[in-house]
Amino acid sequence: MSRTDIEDLAEFLAAARRIVVFTGAGISTESGIPDFRSPGGIWTKMAPIEFQDFVSSAEMRKEAWRRRFAMEEMFATVKPNLGHEAVAALVAKGRASHVITQNIDNLHQDSGIPAEQVIELHGNTRYAKCLDCGARSELEPIRAHFDKTGEPPECLFCAGMLKTATISFGQAMPELEMGRAESATRACDLFLVLGSSLVVYPAAGFPLLAKRRGAKLVIVNREETPQDDAADLVLHSEIGPTLKGAVDRITAG
Ligand SMILES: [Zn+2]
Repeated sequence: MSRTDIEDLAEFLAAARRIVVFTGAGISTESGIPDFRSPGGIWTKMAPIEFQDFVSSAEMRKEAWRRRFAMEEMFATVKPNLGHEAVAALVAKGRASHVITQNIDNLHQDSGIPAEQVIELHGNTRYAKCLDCGARSELEPIRAHFDKTGEPPECLFCAGMLKTATISFGQAMPELEMGRAESATRACDLFLVLGSSLVVYPAAGFPLLAKRRGAKLVIVNREETPQDDAADLVLHSEIGPTLKGAVDRITAG
């Protein structure tokens, strides 16, 4: 990070009338959440459980819940960081219309952004959803039942199968969220990528859609991305301090 990075970013933020923020794992690693996909990340050591396996195998379902509960201490204690807070300030001041996120950690909502302005492309791991009726269930009673019986409970409403409200590998992308993300992207004049390597499709298609629609594209990510060449500004810096510095600059006075 340098003073120039902050100034450059502030210039783009100040010139924009309607920002869409797009976040990936990189914004949450600054809160201490590991990037599962990164080298050395959990998915390079332990294969993720695919949706079809979850649905067809009781053993896989138990394994999925064991893994999820093993991470609960981490998820229950992580907090939004400077980056999340700076994004929340952009939304609160009406500069950003939406946050589209690949993250499942609920930290944007925890930072104070209204849920209807957060579009979760890969769902949310902080609660569960019934695969049959879609009803929401909280994790605590599921865990209590699991610890007691060794089995996950059925949906209270329809006896259907419960799964964390995430989108697993092999599971269809959520149509409603994809549609909302596309509308928000079409309407923005600045598409701001924070901490996404932009390699997972269809999510990674949004920055290019924004560009085609005439929006500016700014990417803040520690590593290079395949879309750096298409961007109007690329910063390979830490998200929290850089974005906070830029947001403070445009909202001061
Ligand atoms: Zn149900």
